[in-house]
Amino acid sequence: MKVLTLNSGSSSVKYQFIDTSTRTVLCKGLVDRIGISGTSLTHKRHDGHQVVITDSIVDHQTAINCILDILVDQKHGVAKNLSEIEAVGHRLVHAGAAFKQSVLINEAVRNKLYECIEFAPLHNPPNIKGIEASLNRLSATPNVGVFDTTFHVNMPDYAYTYGIPYSYYEKYGIRRYGFHGTSHYYVANRAAEIVGTPLEELKIITCHLGNGSSITAVQGGISVDTSMGFTPLEGLVMGTRCGDIDPGLIFTIADRENFSVDQANAFFNKQCGMKGLSGLSSDMREIESAAASGHQRAQLALDVFCYRVKKYISAYIGVMNGADLIVFTGGIGENSTLVREKSLSNLDNLGIRLDPERNKCIRSVESLISHSESKIKVMVIPTNEELVIALETERIIKNSH
Ligand code: ADP
Repeated sequence: MKVLTLNSGSSSVKYQFIDTSTRTVLCKGLVDRIGISGTSLTHKRHDGHQVVITDSIVDHQTAINCILDILVDQKHGVAKNLSEIEAVGHRLVHAGAAFKQSVLINEAVRNKLYECIEFAPLHNPPNIKGIEASLNRLSATPNVGVFDTTFHVNMPDYAYTYGIPYSYYEKYGIRRYGFHGTSHYYVANRAAEIVGTPLEELKIITCHLGNGSSITAVQGGISVDTSMGFTPLEGLVMGTRCGDIDPGLIFTIADRENFSVDQANAFFNKQCGMKGLSGLSSDMREIESAAASGHQRAQLALDVFCYRVKKYISAYIGVMNGADLIVFTGGIGENSTLVREKSLSNLDNLGIRLDPERNKCIRSVESLISHSESKIKVMVIPTNEELVIALETERIIKNSH
């Protein structure tokens, strides 16, 4: 099946056109800076042909129109007409309590998606705009929603419940949900394939480290705990998010800085993490190079980041009473030899030993980076969230017939 995947953010739409039968990407691209000046569409075809189109793209509808036009463009496209798109798969951030798995989008589902906006006010509205725009142009094509949260739906209640009055869970659905589900799912499955053991028999810790970062404990194929919570703010220290803090800080800082609720939300999401710590950048490459040239706060940011990763990995070994595999993925997880080395240092008593040479692996290559005597195998696996979205879309459509 040929599936168009759409990942609609507040000012960007990423897309891939995937043939699920061969698992190949026919083309992919990105519309960036929607509604801001200097909007561009970058489009890459599987044969290496690439084009960048700069245009005024004012909203998501225009962005998706441009994507569909280029897909069937005589010079740059890969399809003769839009009917070659057999389905559209949307990456959706937060399913709230409404959806336990990916879903074929119809009127009732669309209404429920609007109800989920309150769970992710920053992410869900652009996701919905992407759906509306796609349905406007491709009304006869099935559209499927694939959520970041649903891989975590089977977490045990003691892992997803916060220590607040239970009525808030019942009234508002306040619980830990977890995110990056398609990525954790992909790399856990791929790791099991690589080692040749059924996923059901493995205990895997998947570390998705990028601008947003989360770690998941996958036992028997099920996410039994994950570091992000009700929102993607919980857990690891991230590019601009604080991760776990004493909730008391929110009151103290809001009080001292005179923050409204919205300002406090923006502060903890956008001004903290590596950016706030280093005072320099949210970007790990810049942090690493500044730390290497003696920038002390960049060094501190790096130390804090890796220490938090180490704590979660150690905790999840406890949660699962051991682990067989640890997998690194995401921009940082796939690329940073230093972060992997620091995060796993001095864990030999837990059965983790890296091989320094193997740990220098090259980007986009699946690699085993642990020492041959390490009890727990450590791997780097490039993530492929779009493939999961495309395959899920196909599965849901086939099941709906
Ligand atoms: P997103 O979460 O937005 O999808 P990515 O998964 O692409 O982001 O990760 C972006 C992060 O990966 C940035 O902090 C970037 O600096 C980091 N990164 C990319 N390449 C490297 C590298 N070679 N070494 C260290 N960090 C890297």
